[in-house]
Amino acid sequence: MKSEKFKSLTVPVHRASTLVFDDAAAFLKRKSRLFDGYSYGLYGTPTTRSLETRVARIEGGERSVVVPSGLAAITHPLLALLGTGDHVLVADCVYGPTREFIASVLARLGVEASFIPADAASIAGQLRPTTRMVVLESPGYYSMEIQDIGRICQEARAAGCRVLLDNAWGFGASRMFEHGIDLVCTPLSKYASGHSDVCMGAITVRDESLFRQIKSFTAAIGTGVSSDDAYLVLRGLETLDVRLAEHARRGLAVSEWLAQQPQVARVINPALPGDMQHARFQQYFSSGNGLLSVLLEETRLPAVSAMLDGYQHFRIGGSYGGTHSLVAIADLSAARTAGPQAGVGLLVRYHIGLEPLEALMDDLRAGFERLDAFH
Ligand SMILES: *Cc1c(COP(=O)(O)O)cnc(C)c1O
Repeated sequence: MKSEKFKSLTVPVHRASTLVFDDAAAFLKRKSRLFDGYSYGLYGTPTTRSLETRVARIEGGERSVVVPSGLAAITHPLLALLGTGDHVLVADCVYGPTREFIASVLARLGVEASFIPADAASIAGQLRPTTRMVVLESPGYYSMEIQDIGRICQEARAAGCRVLLDNAWGFGASRMFEHGIDLVCTPLSKYASGHSDVCMGAITVRDESLFRQIKSFTAAIGTGVSSDDAYLVLRGLETLDVRLAEHARRGLAVSEWLAQQPQVARVINPALPGDMQHARFQQYFSSGNGLLSVLLEETRLPAVSAMLDGYQHFRIGGSYGGTHSLVAIADLSAARTAGPQAGVGLLVRYHIGLEPLEALMDDLRAGFERLDAFH
């Protein structure tokens, strides 16, 4: 049957383990197709390659490799590029599991790590002769500090060391290669897919040989993503810009309202004028999103629980970026080890979803009433 009459707008979902070849010679040479062609379902299908092309374009890079989670997008390049005796400089505010990976797996492999302040302006003085990589995350996990990315990249480059950035927050609203980042790691589970139904990540680079190193490594350890999952992310990307704009608008409206409430000691949303990180936000990001944190005046857990447990729309859960509003808490009092901001305590983090905004405001208002009633 001829297929040229069937023309859809969507990228087809190619499910495959085995791929077949025209002749024995092509089969024997299949490994040469790892970077640009097709050799086996695990190493890429037209669906996953389409997604990689789209993510690379959004991040402003040349080449992307998709992997099964955002965490894998960070751990794979670290494993691929670091070895025994190497040293890595890490922002104090990185994603908790990134930090655990560095302290467990990387330490076991003989990779040393030291931490820079979450809002570091410079890494001068912390680079060692063995420093091979700097790991940044801006805004940081829960506490949302922004490092001076451009300056740190300049210093790292002068020292011959690469910079990796976890771009969970800034996807779709940043051009990190223009500031000197070498590896942009994107959890696609967040705003990219946008519906809380898939785990995936991408590693994006501009440098072809770096791409080949990363792709060879993911192939060697046997990770890949299914075309069905890749399709979900491709579908999410169709609406990324409008969703992000709407999350950002709501995030700002809720932040401004929260800042007026007597129960709130501080709202943390870098997109909010007046936020401690607002100048760096303007320097490195073109817009915000629906994620924000608050420090409360009342930090005893039973009181905070009373507020959270009774929410109707803000469901309690990790991750973010979907259509549903979420709330999460983290006690960061022992989670930071570098710099003067090490004492950040109990944080409540909200993801403002796409439910009617007035219903979300009512939910938050009723939550503060429960918090007040706890005394
Ligand atoms: C969510 C997140 C990750 C991990 O992404 P998964 O796809 O859930 O593994 C990594 N870093 C940051 C900053 C995140 O917010």
